[in-house]
Amino acid sequence: MIPRPFEYHSPRSLSEALSLLSQHGDTAKLLAGGHSFLPMMKLRFAQPDHLIDLGKLAELKGIRETHDEIIIGAMTTENELIWSALLQQKCPLLVEGARQISDPQVRYRGTIGGDISHGDPGNDHPSLMIALGASFVLAGEHGQRVVHADHFFLGTYMTQLEAGEIMTEIRIPIPAADTGYCYAKLKRKTGDFATAATAVTLRMQDGAVSDVRIVLTNVGPTALRAVDAEQTLTGKALDDDAIEQAARLAMLACEPAEDLRGDIDYKTAMAGEMTRRALRTALARATH
Ligand SMILES: Cc1cc2nc3c(=O)[nH]c(=O)nc-3n(C[C@H](O)[C@H](O)[C@H](O)COP(=O)(O)OP(=O)(O)OC[C@H]3O[C@@H](n4cnc5c(N)ncnc54)[C@H](O)[C@@H]3O)c2cc1C
Repeated sequence: MIPRPFEYHSPRSLSEALSLLSQHGDTAKLLAGGHSFLPMMKLRFAQPDHLIDLGKLAELKGIRETHDEIIIGAMTTENELIWSALLQQKCPLLVEGARQISDPQVRYRGTIGGDISHGDPGNDHPSLMIALGASFVLAGEHGQRVVHADHFFLGTYMTQLEAGEIMTEIRIPIPAADTGYCYAKLKRKTGDFATAATAVTLRMQDGAVSDVRIVLTNVGPTALRAVDAEQTLTGKALDDDAIEQAARLAMLACEPAEDLRGDIDYKTAMAGEMTRRALRTALARATH
């Protein structure tokens, strides 16, 4: 199918984009890499009168660090994340996650800001962002606000983004150098979304877990933080029994929908298995 006719806008600055968004209200939508939104337009699930392309906003691109955070422009592509020496060195979980997103074509065009803003529970960045304790800068015509990833995702295709707002930056606290990490993802084939995946960040102290985050992809209406699994591990050695207990608690947090990737029992079991694998790999990578 082809989309309904629309007017295309290509602003050169954030303020111009914000003013176009405010001028056209509900009839306008933002375009980033287009890999989620253009298919929706072609299927006519989305029928905007005005499409505001963020592609020429240089201020929304790039990766830099401050003394304690990594700042990523929302229009930075998956490949730019993968190729970043800064991320490879200081935030390898994000590189590992981005490498597993779809295929090379999608990674050339798809952006981190679009992946997060879309609110698709099948997308990988929501879990990665929650595991990394990220926050998002949302700009509006009258200023900006910062929303933590823990509170950003409200439901399937629903986020804290309000009409008239543009996500400009992703801020990630620089993980301590001894942090273990892993993104374990099961997908049926290259280019498919996760059947189930688990993001883990882990710190150990004196042989016990001092800090852990476990976040599940595509087994609920949003990325799910497995809080009970995290709590059961904290303060304990990460041995086989503890990993098994955490995997079981993570499975209890799952609420997947049945689809072509599997039924509820299978997806729940795979979320448990991804959690086991992610915890084992994160433990091997944590220097303690
Ligand atoms: C075949 C295929 C397989 C895929 N597999 C995966 C996968 O395994 N894992 C995965 O994570 N993703 C996957 N994707 C999705 C892909 O990563 C998309 O690129 C991503 O979901 C959206 O990013 P985008 O830059 O293309 O945004 P767009 O499609 O342009 O926009 C998506 C939505 O976000 C809004 N938006 C975009 N940028 C902003 C912003 N800065 N501020 C506010 N709103 C904004 C748009 O208005 C739109 O509603 C796949 C896509 C395809 C086509």
